[in-house]
Amino acid sequence: MSKENILNPNVDAVLYQKNKRARIDNKDNIQKMDQYDISMRNNNPDGYVVSLPEGITMQTGFLPSTNVPFLHLSNGGTAYVSVGEQPHLLTEHTFKSNQIIQAVKDHYSRDNVYLCRFNQSIESVPNEFIQLKQNIETYKSSVNIARERVGHLAHEFERTMMRNDNRVLNYPTRNRIMKYVSDVLGLEEITDIHLRQRIECEAIEKLIFHTGKINEYLKHEVDNIYFASSHTISNPYLANEKGVMAFVYRDDVFRRMIIMVDNFHVAGQIGTQMHLTTLHEVSHFSGSLDFHIAPSTSRVGDASEFMDSFIDGIFGRNGESISIDYKFLEAYRQQHPNIPIDEIQFKEILKRDPMLRANAFMENADFLATMISDLGSGRPFNSDTVARVSRAATPLKFDMMFVLYKLAIENMRTINNAPFEVTP
Ligand SMILES: [Zn+2]
Repeated sequence: MSKENILNPNVDAVLYQKNKRARIDNKDNIQKMDQYDISMRNNNPDGYVVSLPEGITMQTGFLPSTNVPFLHLSNGGTAYVSVGEQPHLLTEHTFKSNQIIQAVKDHYSRDNVYLCRFNQSIESVPNEFIQLKQNIETYKSSVNIARERVGHLAHEFERTMMRNDNRVLNYPTRNRIMKYVSDVLGLEEITDIHLRQRIECEAIEKLIFHTGKINEYLKHEVDNIYFASSHTISNPYLANEKGVMAFVYRDDVFRRMIIMVDNFHVAGQIGTQMHLTTLHEVSHFSGSLDFHIAPSTSRVGDASEFMDSFIDGIFGRNGESISIDYKFLEAYRQQHPNIPIDEIQFKEILKRDPMLRANAFMENADFLATMISDLGSGRPFNSDTVARVSRAATPLKFDMMFVLYKLAIENMRTINNAPFEVTP
């Protein structure tokens, strides 16, 4: 290969990939690659070769999740502070609680805010926060939907999946969860049956892992959820393009989650999706990540369209691009400490390695939230093609969701400058 064909990792290259529509239409090219050595392969349709470091091979399994342990166990793991004993965020006055409250004020661009804890009585909410007071039961029922669904799914895992003595999962071949996951991941397109089975197994393990963690949180720590509002009688909240829907700080020892309820009111249709936001945010405590696919991140409502938009994002097709959560790249680097790898090379590996792609997919908080919600409500994959939210046919939603996407990017900029995570 000639020198000019080596694509150097620079900003221009990223822009090029974003704007240029790639032309990889034969999916077999992606999947039928050499399973042991992918370093010299080139799938870039525009003739560029991203040179990968030597020694890069296909992943044989998923990377471990960067699970946040129960931090409110003290250093020795002994002194447990139960959720009920934690003071209310507004009365606590620690550095972290001040930081959370400040984040709420910043996101609302208001100083007068109130945070209502999940189990707090309606009476104790100040009267001026009328919107919060009037809708608190609706917010709680949204969180309860999330709780019920993840609970159902956790229960079904317990009922239908067994482990043998070596902790290897055993499940019926016609298991409905397996069928759903396989459909969402498009695994039937992988021709190598062994590879397909390995990916399937890893994907289920990842789903079991997050489902278990989220279920535990919503069972025992639901009172760590706060509904934050700035809407008062004298100062109603108006549409805010920079509004985030919810956030968590990964280093918050009390694992508090803040739902920015005012933004659900001004965001119209997605006001009914607070249960997905809940699942999304809680999943971050078990290490889920944010891969933002632009422009369709929040616009894709149905799990049957996730893989298409994900692949489009990775390959830069159909005007889509994807931002890789740096924690995923970090996890990869940790597993390959002797191979220097930059982000462009990593994206290139993602194109070629179906195991790594499925790994990223299953770690993506948006996808996880919908999968858990679907499976926990018994909703079959792609059952209702008329009612489903289609990527192609929602012009009205598009504008609004594009705004949300911009917020996501805005937020990511914040993350990059901060030692902790604030996620939309
Ligand atoms: Zn997130």
